[in-house]
Amino acid sequence: MRVIRRFENLQSGMVAVVGIPFDANSSFMQGPALAPAKIRKAWNSGSMNLCAESGIDLDTQPNFVDLGDLDIAGAPAIVEKIEKAIGEFLSHNIRIISLGGDHAITYPVVKSCSTRFAKLDILHLDAHPDLYDSYDGNRYSNACPFARIMEEKLASRLVQVGIRTLNPHQRKQARRFGVKIIDMQNLHKASAIQWENPLYLSIDLDVLDPAFAPGVSHYEPGGMSTRQVIELIQGLPVPIAGADIVEFNPKRDPQEITAMVAAKILKEVAARMLELPVEVI
Ligand code: MN
Ligand code: MN
Repeated sequence: MRVIRRFENLQSGMVAVVGIPFDANSSFMQGPALAPAKIRKAWNSGSMNLCAESGIDLDTQPNFVDLGDLDIAGAPAIVEKIEKAIGEFLSHNIRIISLGGDHAITYPVVKSCSTRFAKLDILHLDAHPDLYDSYDGNRYSNACPFARIMEEKLASRLVQVGIRTLNPHQRKQARRFGVKIIDMQNLHKASAIQWENPLYLSIDLDVLDPAFAPGVSHYEPGGMSTRQVIELIQGLPVPIAGADIVEFNPKRDPQEITAMVAAKILKEVAARMLELPVEVI
């Protein structure tokens, strides 16, 4: 993954990685701000090659680049700042894979992304629906991004997979917004989802069972295996318009297992994006 720091080197059709080292809206514990650096370290560790399972070599793909981290230090209006920065990247007709950060980053990223596509569907993998109207008095908490996204009609469709923490408030919110939820008990139905529009893919690593990805803030046992997540990505029949990998907490990952899981998922998402280009408006 070639590191690019200058906008003028961005070319139409590129897929670019951007780190968003932000966790101030985490409702439970801090740590995900450290994630982009740890994922890059795993990526560059030399312990694996950089071929995705389809055979595409991400180390030598000229269209796959790393834009470094967003500079968001001390930013008070963080939502606006992320939205604007991602919007500037997208104006170069590229697609972005954001490395969180906590899940709060997804709302401003999707807000930018939605302006580039006439119709955008979202596939959200998570143990949690993140549909709270407000959490601990914070409407921009990592427990709320999909409520903001659906209120503002930033997506034509939201499908959540891997959910196993639905409470009455969020069930009500899901009904209000018409969210399709395929919970863990019905995971076998995920491969039958019909997709039509370009897809924004949001992957909260706690969708995985903590046995596979212990480096997350919110342990919720009974989750997906790494293999099941990879199969879902590889089986997507429509182009991926944008993606994020969020909620990796390096403070809970002393063996760096979760960093490697994040890097592996990044390989598969990037490969899928490069294999299926997409038209922007
Ligand atoms: Mn989440
Ligand atoms: Mn979660």
